[in-house]
Formats: sequence, C-alpha cells, structure tokens
Amino acid sequence: MASSRVRVTFLGGLGEIGRNCLALEQDGRIVVIDAGLMFPEPTMYGVDLILPDFRWLIERRDRVDGIVLTHGHEDHTGALRYLVKDVNVPIYGSALTLGFARHRLTEAKVAAKCTFIEVADGERRRIGPFEFEFIPVTHSVPSAHALAVRTSVGVVVHSGDFKLDQTPIDNRRTDLARLGAIGDEGVALLLCDSTNAEEPGFTNSERSVGGALRRLFLERPERRMVVACFASHIHRVQQIMDVAREQGRKVALMGRSMEANVKLARKLHLLHADAADFIDLETVDRYEPGEVCVICTGSQGEPMAALTKLSRGDARFLRVGADDTVILSSHPIPGNEWSVGRVIDDLHRAGTEVIDSSQEPVHASGHARQGELRTFHQLLRPRNFVPVHGEYRHLVHHAELARSMGLSAKHILLCEDGDQIEVRTDGIRRAGQVPAGLHYIDGSAGDLDERPLEERRMLAEFGVLLLSAGVDAELGRIVQPVRVVARGWFDGESDRQLIATVTDAVRSAIDEALADGERDETALNKAAQRAAGRLLGQRFRRQPVLMTAVVVY
Ligand SMILES: [Zn+2]
Ligand SMILES: [Zn+2]
Repeated sequence: MASSRVRVTFLGGLGEIGRNCLALEQDGRIVVIDAGLMFPEPTMYGVDLILPDFRWLIERRDRVDGIVLTHGHEDHTGALRYLVKDVNVPIYGSALTLGFARHRLTEAKVAAKCTFIEVADGERRRIGPFEFEFIPVTHSVPSAHALAVRTSVGVVVHSGDFKLDQTPIDNRRTDLARLGAIGDEGVALLLCDSTNAEEPGFTNSERSVGGALRRLFLERPERRMVVACFASHIHRVQQIMDVAREQGRKVALMGRSMEANVKLARKLHLLHADAADFIDLETVDRYEPGEVCVICTGSQGEPMAALTKLSRGDARFLRVGADDTVILSSHPIPGNEWSVGRVIDDLHRAGTEVIDSSQEPVHASGHARQGELRTFHQLLRPRNFVPVHGEYRHLVHHAELARSMGLSAKHILLCEDGDQIEVRTDGIRRAGQVPAGLHYIDGSAGDLDERPLEERRMLAEFGVLLLSAGVDAELGRIVQPVRVVARGWFDGESDRQLIATVTDAVRSAIDEALADGERDETALNKAAQRAAGRLLGQRFRRQPVLMTAVVVY
C-alpha cells in the first residue's frame, strides 16, 4: 500500500545561489532533482568548486531511482560528475540539458558509465515511485522544465528556474495553460525559484536584448564588436548572431565552452546559423573591424575565460584596442563584481570601448520577478509552499509574497540546506535534518575540509612564522640558536626588529623551561609557541600561523 507521506530533503540551494539539489522520497524510494555546484568566494583560497554534501544520498544509494535535471545550468548539473561516481542512476532531462551534462561528464571521464534518458516537453514518465511531468518554462537557457510530480499525497510542483517570457526567441513559452490545469487538479506542495523575489514588476523579455544590441551595432559600423555572454545562453548567442548577420558581419567564436555549446545547439536545431556565417578566430585580423563580430565567454570575469585573457592581452589570435567595442551582455553574479570590474578596467586601459548592463539594456534576467511569481502562484494555488533557489533574504521575500496571496503561515515553511520536510494530505511539517555543509573541492587535491581552508585564510591574512632551535638534553641548554623566519610579514627594518624581539622571547621561554627540568620535545615546542603567540598578540595584534621546530638532542 502506498504511504500517505512524502519526504523532501533539501541538500543545497536554499540560502545560496548555487549547488541546487533536493531529494523526493516515498515508500523508501528516492528521486533526486538537480545536482548543481557553486563557485567559491574570493576568501576561499584555492577552492575551485563547492558541492552539496552528498553523504546522506550516498548512504541511501540503493534506494535512489534517478536524477532529474530541470535545465542545463551549472548550478543544477555541475556536481553530477561527483555524484554519479557513488550514485550511478539514470539521468533525465531535455536533449539540450543532457547534452550540456554529458559534455561535462565526458570531460570528467565518467560519461561512459552513465545512462541518459531524454524527455520531451509535456512528457509524463514513471521514475521510481513517482510520475514526473516535464512542463516547458522560459529561462536563460533553452529547453528548461518545471516538474509536476504525482505522489501519494498529491502533486508536487518544482518550478525549476523560470521566467514568464511572452516573446521568447524560440517561441517556446512557459506552459501557463498546463500549469493552470495542474492547479485545478490540486497542488499539495509548490517549490519555487526565489532568485528575483525581491524585485517588483516583470523581468524583461529576452527579445528586448536583441533590440538594444541591434542599435549599438548600427551606431558602430566601423568598429569590431566583441560580445561576451554565458556560453549556455543559446538565445543570447542567436540574437548576437542575427544582428551580426544583418550587418554583414562574420562571427568568430572564442572560448572552448562557447564553441562546444554552439556546436551542440546547432546539432539540436536550437541555434540557427549557416556554416558560412562563421570564421575561425585565427583569421579575424584579415577582416576590417566592421566586418567582424566576436562572441566570447568570460562575462563573469572568470580567470581562465576568453574575455579575461583578452582584457590582459593574453588571448591567442586576438588583441583588442581602440577599434573595438566590448559588450558585456550579462549581469555580474553576486561575488563576481570585483573580477568583472578588473576586466572592464583592463579593457579601458587597452583603449577599448566597454558597454555593460549598467549603461545599456544588453542583458535580461532569466528569473521571474514578483509579478511573474504571483501569476505562477495564482495558476497553481498550492496547499503548501516552500521557497527554493535563493539566498536567505530571497526566500523570506518569496514566503511573504505567498502569504500576501492568502496562503496561511502554517502552510509555508522557510527551509535551509539540510532541512527535511514531510508532506501529508493535511499539511506539511518539519521532519528533521541531515548534514548539508559546504563540500569544497580543490581542483588539484580533490576534497578539502574546513580546517585546511581556515589555515589558508590565516596564512593569507596573518602570514607565517617559523621558529627553530636545538636543545642538548644532558647539558640542559640551547645548543643551536633560536632562529625565526617570517613570511607574509613586514619588510626591512621593522621585520628585523620583530624577528629580534620574537627570538628573545622564545629563547627566554626555552631557557626557563629547561631550568625547570623540562626535556620533553613536545613540551618545549609548546613553550616556544606560547611565548611567540603571546608576544605577537599583545604587541602586534596579529595571530600568524606559528610553526615550531625545537629539536632535543
Ligand atoms: Zn539556477
Ligand atoms: Zn538556471
């Protein structure tokens, strides 16, 4: 007999933009929705990626029936290559979503053992104990889906990432009629994108960006146009290409992911272009500036991406200068503002004209604002609601929006990563917690714990001091003098003074311990460390990483 409860476990994406992942569970069987990554903050030294903590899932791997992907963005698919190593179950998604995911899994050399199951718009499919329906939604990547999941307690709707674009580039609109019909059927729980829940009004249509680009291109017939955007934003690439083609410009693609994604999207007939529209980047200099448009990656200031290399003059085959206009067809993701600012500065230094979304409407968000969220809620009229996909304040605003539309507070739960909830026919309640800390990946070394990361922060902030000395146990005195080496401290005279002061303090501390009859190496090292730590704390208000090497002979 089917159980009368469904459990949802939130493994990521609630309290941050990134690493989206949750598990739906019924009768002991589990289906995972999305497995995304998050990019680190600048103070997370050496961290390349952050994943959800998958331990809870890995412990239950025999009970997992599938991973369903809502769309192809990295914050929904980027952790797959780590998850499938332990939880190798079929992966479901649209052709493009799976194409992007497969490309990443191939790079990680794990694609061969994965099973990919393609789903079409509107398709219904049994996955584990559930029936999933894939509902088309508009977003900043084509072929995105919302999910209507039929469970033993009713329909659970997951919005995926979406906006209500009435004039999308591919004319594939969010299926409002179907959402309305599901609303009529009755929705037990809505999980909905909160990214723009603070923003009033409606998100601009993607098509509005094309108009702005067309005007900017028309005003600059003599200049070479370089446009940076997300490589997965196929509709943006399409619009840039259309504008270029109208003006007789050839298009050169720059950046590995841009080339790969354009190739895939053309194969799937999601991007319309002739081979004759393209030229190789190597040949760009053979054309007049006004005959060329370059489309590149790096709109977020990513260190290894094409635009960043261009801004530093490090790019192969292309230099930008006074004849170029660079358009950043993007908006910096919170945390990337600084890197984007650096890229823009460097481009200016090269004499290049730079246009970004703060000056011209060259970007449109992929996420619903309040007006669209209200429409979504109104169509679905959920009995229970949990805001997902957002920083904490976004979740709070989204909860308020639901309340303002008449849903009572006891049917709205503000959850965070690690929370579990239970959905029953009569309501929802909290049902426990699972580990869901940040899982850091250091590209060269693999997993990284909080402790070494904290040490890296201390090294970066305070530097390091190495103390060494040799002690003769029989004589009870120092035989190899105390030496202090500092890294990441001051330079010149102040450094020498500091070192002399610390050396004295450490020498006295060791002498004192020896006079008390102490001969144990560990104890002598501790005494040296304590003396140096106290002095540095009192005198300099700094706590560098202290390393001691007091050796007892
Ligand atoms: Zn997302
Ligand atoms: Zn997305």
